[in-house]
Amino acid sequence: MMKNVVKFLAGLSILAITIGIGVWNSRAGQDWLLEHAVAAAMKRPAGLGEPEGLKVFLCGTSSPLPAPGRAQACVAVFAGKSLYLVDAGAGSAQVAALGRLPLEHLEAVFLTHFHSDHIAALPEFNLNSWVAGRPKPMVVFGPPGVAEIVEGLNDAYRLDLTYRVAHHGEELLPPSLGVMEAELMEADTVLDREDLTITSFQVNHDPVRPAVGYRFDYRGRSVVISGDATVTPGLIDAATGADLLLQDSLSLPLVKSLEKASAGSRMEKIFFDIQDYHAHTGDLSGLVAKSGVRQLALYHLVPPPRNALFEKIFSRDLPEGTIISQDGMIFELPTGSDEVIVITP
Ligand SMILES: [Zn+2]
Ligand SMILES: [Zn+2]
Repeated sequence: MMKNVVKFLAGLSILAITIGIGVWNSRAGQDWLLEHAVAAAMKRPAGLGEPEGLKVFLCGTSSPLPAPGRAQACVAVFAGKSLYLVDAGAGSAQVAALGRLPLEHLEAVFLTHFHSDHIAALPEFNLNSWVAGRPKPMVVFGPPGVAEIVEGLNDAYRLDLTYRVAHHGEELLPPSLGVMEAELMEADTVLDREDLTITSFQVNHDPVRPAVGYRFDYRGRSVVISGDATVTPGLIDAATGADLLLQDSLSLPLVKSLEKASAGSRMEKIFFDIQDYHAHTGDLSGLVAKSGVRQLALYHLVPPPRNALFEKIFSRDLPEGTIISQDGMIFELPTGSDEVIVITP
């Protein structure tokens, strides 16, 4: 009896493998697999579907120092259905596209400062959200200087816009929606949008001025994005009582080792210079203790840890429970709760 069952199961497995090989090697089989694979890939990831509470999706966690699998600084914040971006570093539009972010709901982009690793993907987000059906122009908020950035990018991409419209038609891509609009938002100003309040605050990223961070408060939940910033009383104030703080962070032992390894080359000075304008990992315990922030997550990693040893050293002196974030990571802050749910990609 047992022998017959084993024989039957073995026969069934051989049949399944034979059918599988047949499907894999036939055009019709490949087309069938392709249709299902593409449909699955187009689905929005779990965690972005429910338009409730505050949510954060990380579309870029790196700094100018490159690392495989990491785009430069970009944080997407969902307040209900509305989507906001803070910064748009190189590669982040691809991470957003792969994460199936609903860019048709993009309300605005907020710039913390105008270093290239925070603005390079603005034109791509503008194009992708235009194609997705955003019903009004992409507004870019920022401190003084934002108009110059937006005007320059609009000029540089004017020909691209004309080609897109010529190819796909004005009905699909109305030309007026393909041009970005700048809105000045000085430090310490507040933007109220129904249940959402966005506050900008000054940070220290000297010699880069202006430089700001942003706080989003929505239905009792809050997220603070530091931008590039050392730990200052202003940052502590802005983060006070927040549920989630996304913080720029630099590991001094790692950067010093890079400086040492570059001795005699042009990079030696660069690795020395960058040490004074990002928050050091050793300063973050004080930041958490004084602000009472519920969850600290590090992004804009200087340098992004590329292996277990780097990560171990990056983690030195960090407050317990700190998350070293990754591209595609989602934080959910449901309304009426103090939970911070972390979804790792
Ligand atoms: Zn930066
Ligand atoms: Zn910067």
